[in-house]
Amino acid sequence: MTKRIAIIGAGAAGLTAAWRLRNAPYEVQVFEKSRGYTGRAATRSHGTVRYDFGANYITRPPERIRQLLTDTLPHDALATIDPPVWTFDKAGNREPGDPESNAAPRWTYAHGINTLGKLLVEDGNLSVQRTTRIHHLTRTGGAWQLHTEQGETHGPFHVVLSTPPSPQTVAILQRSSADAESETHIRQCIAALEVATYAPQFAYVFGLAAPLPRPEPFHALLNTDRAHPIAWMSIEDDKPGRVPSGQSVVSAQMSPDWTAERVDDDPAAYTDTVHALASDVLGVPLQPLAWTDAHRWRYAAPTAAAPDAPLNAAYEAGLYFAGDYRVGKGRVALAMDSGWTQAERIMADWT
Ligand SMILES: Cc1cc2nc3c(=O)[nH]c(=O)nc-3n(C[C@H](O)[C@H](O)[C@H](O)COP(=O)(O)OP(=O)(O)OC[C@H]3O[C@@H](n4cnc5c(N)ncnc54)[C@H](O)[C@@H]3O)c2cc1C
Repeated sequence: MTKRIAIIGAGAAGLTAAWRLRNAPYEVQVFEKSRGYTGRAATRSHGTVRYDFGANYITRPPERIRQLLTDTLPHDALATIDPPVWTFDKAGNREPGDPESNAAPRWTYAHGINTLGKLLVEDGNLSVQRTTRIHHLTRTGGAWQLHTEQGETHGPFHVVLSTPPSPQTVAILQRSSADAESETHIRQCIAALEVATYAPQFAYVFGLAAPLPRPEPFHALLNTDRAHPIAWMSIEDDKPGRVPSGQSVVSAQMSPDWTAERVDDDPAAYTDTVHALASDVLGVPLQPLAWTDAHRWRYAAPTAAAPDAPLNAAYEAGLYFAGDYRVGKGRVALAMDSGWTQAERIMADWT
């Protein structure tokens, strides 16, 4: 009987795992709560402008992920961001950044970083059921059923690979039920996943009706003393094919501390405040302002990694886990790599 694998989440980790399993003798089904692919590697449109409002670029990938991006997947639309990342401190002093980091290629895609997800789905001929939020799991007779928020049931599956951020995976597991042995694994996995906490970030985007004056040659500014309300700013104009000439688009991502104090508020309520802060950090007014966007990332990046042992032991119950919380760093390439690792473990365990 063909083994059936369910993957929860069509982010970088879930889609890379599904892609890695594409030629294995399994039936693989991905479930994604949103309408799009690639999760926090997210892109939006405003008219003809395309802008990333989560991950900005992919850099320093493990070698197998670099090969996937630059050799295996179609790479016509893959582009590097050439201007460097500079730093700034609480007082607003800007300085050239680390030469070694700036020497590493920083990749994105011409139509948005979420092109990565579309390429994985198309190249792997993956089956992704979108707008399907998994609410809980049940296990009977050695197989998993996945129950959606809408009340549908999908299954049976021999294996479930969960890839949402650890707090969201914990919520699914807390509502789940299984036989006694699998329940023990679920409880141990919840305890391990709770170690991997996430920091929130509000993200803002400012569309200008004229090109931004650029006296200094940076693409982005990183706050290195972590004492400024803004953690990161970048200029979307540097990504090929994103911003029509005569306009500029600037992104500002707030520090986890600043965001945590406001995380339940509407991020749009702070747009004017952030606009003023961002103009100060850049050293030029963000004018003439044509449009803005604001987004809450409640789970932006993990602040710690989940311990491996309990998560790896859950293979006995057909449960696997991938995502950036397995490495404790918010990086697209590392999330992809964790999906790849778990796909290989599934292939080794379920021959
Ligand atoms: C503001 C910001 C800036 C960043 N900048 C960078 C950067 O410049 N470079 C970089 O490398 N990384 C960056 N990151 C981090 C990077 O985006 C993440 O580390 C990476 O995308 C994580 O991928 P993932 O697959 O682990 O998780 P996710 O991308 O979160 O994917 C999980 C998926 O699961 C889905 N899901 C959740 N719950 C359910 C459910 N119940 N049922 C079904 N589906 C569900 C979600 O919708 C999502 O699609 C940034 C992140 C943020 C938020």
